[in-house]
Amino acid sequence: MELNKETIKKILDDIDLSAGPPEEEPARQYYFMASARRRLREQFAEDIASGEALKRYGAEELAAMEAEGVCGTAAVITFGCQMNAKDAEKFRGILECIEYKMRESEDADLILYNTCTVRENANLKVYGHLGQAGGWKKRHPKTIVGLCGCMMQEPDEVERIKKSYPFVDLIFGTHNVFKLAELVDGCLARRREAVSTGRKQKMLVDVWEGTDQIVEDLPADRKYPFKSGVNIMFGCNNFCSYCIVPYVRGRERSRRPEEILAEVRRLADEGVAEVMLLGQNVNSYGKTLEQPMTFAKLLKEVEQVEGIRRIRFMTSHPKDLSDELIQVMAESEKICRHLHLPLQSGSSRILKAMNRRYTKEQFLALAEKIKKAVPGISLTTDIIVGFPGETEEDFLDTMDVVDRVGFDSAFTFIYSKRTGTPAAAMEDQVPEDVVKERFDRLLALVQKRAADLCGRDVGTVQDVLVEEVSDHDPGYVTGRLSNNTVVHFPGGPELVGKIVDVYLEESRGFYYMGRQK
Ligand code: SF4
Repeated sequence: MELNKETIKKILDDIDLSAGPPEEEPARQYYFMASARRRLREQFAEDIASGEALKRYGAEELAAMEAEGVCGTAAVITFGCQMNAKDAEKFRGILECIEYKMRESEDADLILYNTCTVRENANLKVYGHLGQAGGWKKRHPKTIVGLCGCMMQEPDEVERIKKSYPFVDLIFGTHNVFKLAELVDGCLARRREAVSTGRKQKMLVDVWEGTDQIVEDLPADRKYPFKSGVNIMFGCNNFCSYCIVPYVRGRERSRRPEEILAEVRRLADEGVAEVMLLGQNVNSYGKTLEQPMTFAKLLKEVEQVEGIRRIRFMTSHPKDLSDELIQVMAESEKICRHLHLPLQSGSSRILKAMNRRYTKEQFLALAEKIKKAVPGISLTTDIIVGFPGETEEDFLDTMDVVDRVGFDSAFTFIYSKRTGTPAAAMEDQVPEDVVKERFDRLLALVQKRAADLCGRDVGTVQDVLVEEVSDHDPGYVTGRLSNNTVVHFPGGPELVGKIVDVYLEESRGFYYMGRQK
């Protein structure tokens, strides 16, 4: 469960730092939040007295910081998936408790790169940012630069950073994200020592190979007040042959249902209308619990929480999608009419090489069953083009599935060799020009089928959760239907966060234009 800021502030104020850190979690992390906060306050007071703070922030920002009661600035730069985005909320929540003011840009006193490693170019992006951070740190030597997330679970990357980016202060991985306060406290202590001795600050590296531990009750800073992701499990046991996740996020661990429900209830109390239950493979939720529980049962419990009006979840592995879940979806008033069901390939031969453990026929039958049970459901998917050994015939199987299922949208990826996965070592890597040509054909088909489907609700009135004032026209707002399609309609900021009835007037390919009823 996540606690609100007032409660946390009170907990931190009451901590006796002279008593030393407790062993048990999360008390230990609260101790380090209080300790890091004290170090940051002391540093800030010194920098104000010496005039350094004025130089660094300028008079206006410094006055604003003092008025807000913050003692430094921090930025969390997040790459990758929903799981990383959710971790970033926790990082921001913890850093705010230490009294950092969060900002989006990297000109901060603490910069934390929350990395992704799903594709090799994701790593390159991180190195690009790191180069810039090095330049910033040269001009502002007291900056703390940290790296965490999936890429840090790869020993080769950590070695490269140690060797080529010695200005980095902190590296930790995916298994100890809950330790951020302790790690920041360690960095602040090392920084103080470096400043007073004139020696170089030593890099703090804390990467775990795995864990069974799930630490609850830490702070988090949500991006939207009206919708929130909720982790229900971590890790994955599937070992799809192209995927690095099981190696960097570890084996499957489910949160206890009591903890999940307590968090959902608290979110509802705070005005959250929509929750997204998150896991790499939500359909296998609960298998590792002391008292096993199915994902369908968990959904039923979440549905009981008053105030929650919409429930989403991701990601679903087709091989684990049970009839029980389909039935719960069919009967539910709150589960959104949207299912993200990664196909990856339509060829049974390629699916076998991918270790997906379903066939083309099984996927088609499953999609059919879901569409029948939940009429009007929107199906979306992920597809990889150019997996090693993919022939034209295999690719045509993928096109066939796309045509027959009719996905509302599909994330299509060109296969990217991921070092450390079995697929990277496979022979028969498909030539680039062939992959590119297939990718274009697939994209054209995906877009055509999606456009056919988007129009299906024109002329009806639907619930829309309003998410923001439109970027393009301040007289319009943008929201989402239960099936996740975007809708724009005339309205103002007072509608943001509300679920309203909207008449869908026109389909524009991938979104609707409407008007409030
Ligand atoms: S199900 Fe497969 S693709 Fe998804 S995270 Fe697990 S190993 Fe990766």
